[in-house]
Formats: sequence, C-alpha cells, structure tokens
Amino acid sequence: MRVVKGRKFNDTIDCHPCFSETAYGHYDILHLPVALECNIECRYCEPRCDCINDSAPGISSKVIGRVEALDLVKTGVERNTRLKVVAVSGPGEPLASPETFDVLRAVHRHFPFLTLCVSTNGLLLSDRIDKLVRSGVRSISITMNAAIPEVGERLYSRAFYQGSRYSGRAAADIISYNQWRGLRNAIDAGLAVRIKSMYIPGINDEEIPYIAWLAGRRGADVHHVVPFVPRGELAHLPVPPEDAIGSIREKSGKYMTQVTHCSQSGASDCMTGHTRAGKVDVLAHMTG
Ligand code: SF4
Repeated sequence: MRVVKGRKFNDTIDCHPCFSETAYGHYDILHLPVALECNIECRYCEPRCDCINDSAPGISSKVIGRVEALDLVKTGVERNTRLKVVAVSGPGEPLASPETFDVLRAVHRHFPFLTLCVSTNGLLLSDRIDKLVRSGVRSISITMNAAIPEVGERLYSRAFYQGSRYSGRAAADIISYNQWRGLRNAIDAGLAVRIKSMYIPGINDEEIPYIAWLAGRRGADVHHVVPFVPRGELAHLPVPPEDAIGSIREKSGKYMTQVTHCSQSGASDCMTGHTRAGKVDVLAHMTG
C-alpha cells in the first residue's frame, strides 16, 4: 500500500485500475450510466453521444436509475470477484446530475467494500466535494484540457454555474478557476485524484505538460493523456499520431506519473465500458 501523507483513503490507488497498472491486471470497474445533464459546452461535444471527456466516442448510453444501478452492482459482485471499483462517469457530467448522488449513496450503503469513483469536468467540484465524500466517493477523475483561459476559450463555448450563463472567455475563466479550486479541495479531502487531458493537436500541445506540472505540484496522483477524437466544432482537427502522444506523455511524465496501461483509442479506455447504446449488460459495463 502506498501511504501518502494526509491521505485518508490510502488503499484506493492500489485497487483502482485507472490509477495503478498492477490493479489494471487484477481488478475490474463497473461503470454506471446515471448522469444525463451537463453544465458546460465543449466545442468538441456532440450531444447525441456520451461525454467525450470520459466515454467512448460516437455512441450513446441508456441512462439507468437507482434500482437498476443497484441490480447491476449486485450482479457484478456475484459474478465477478475482481470487481473493486464502481464509477459514475457519464454519459453527461456526473456532478450536474442529482441522480449521481442518489445512486452513489445507495451503492455505498449496500456495498461498502467497493471503491466509488466519479469523473467530472470540474466546474462543480468545489461545491460538491463534501457531498461526494459523504456519499462514499474515494477517488475522482478531473478532465483538464487547458491550464490557462486563452486555451480554454478555444475548447469551451459555454458554462452554466450557480444560475448564470457564461460564454467565451468568461466561460473559460470560470471553468479553469473552478477546476483548480476543485482539485485543491479534492486533495485536501483525501481523495485519490487522476487528471485526464485530451490532447488536441494545434491547441493544447504546450498546455498538457504545464497541466501535469501544476497538478503534480498540487498533489494529484496520476495523469492520463488521451488522444482527441475529432467531433463537433473541432471535427476538422486531426487525430494526433501515436508518436506525438508518446512525446506529450514523456514531457508530462517529468511532473506526474503517466497512465499508459490503457488508452481512449478504440474501445479500450478504462472509463468507456458503459457505453453501449440502449443496452444495460453487466459484462459490457465492466472494464479493467
Ligand atoms: S463535459 Fe463537454 S464533452 Fe462532456 S457532455 Fe459536457 S459538453 Fe459534452
């Protein structure tokens, strides 16, 4: 077990396939598609599909409720002794959907031995951090594609926060500010933190190592650089070549441990198991 000063939940990383290569070979994750809403507009989003920040490209999930989610977890536990982590990662933004907390609390109550994980764009992370911890969440994945608002403006067109709508630079400002504040709060709360960055050639080439430097200094645990999937307003941009991704990971690896044991290309990403259109199949929901 890796003991981190100040961390309350030290065994989380060792059994979490998104954080640990060793765990990736031994344990599985069950993804619950319960969150439909989103509170930002990414320029690379296509609303008919799952959130590209945390899901497989090009396909939509059926959203399930608490009862169906509990059934799925029960079946997973019965069928698979490797199941260690239950994650809510979409198909929209988990922290913008009240259903997320309803499901997390229920799963934690019935299956307290499972690690709960949530993926987020970070806009509401500070506001929801206490609720997440109270709901039993022990790890979090924050998608950060830009470190400064100038780059963020090219990626995000709108943000909806505390009853106000922000556009352009103002949207990028509030997203960036809240992501970094949320990261600090998550670390202070003792959560294991993965930073996920989508590498978009020509937009955030320089930013990603900078994100790794900033997040690493603040205490985030691992960094997962995934390749861009051309969609939405940015559909004209190219898919980054493998060697470019390798180079970005190498630069970022100076500052944070890189996740290289899974990737978002194809269907192998560790956060993509839940995306099967209109189908809720416990085996389809499991990855690891
Ligand atoms: S976070 Fe971005 S990509 Fe994900 S659902 Fe919201 S707008 Fe789409």
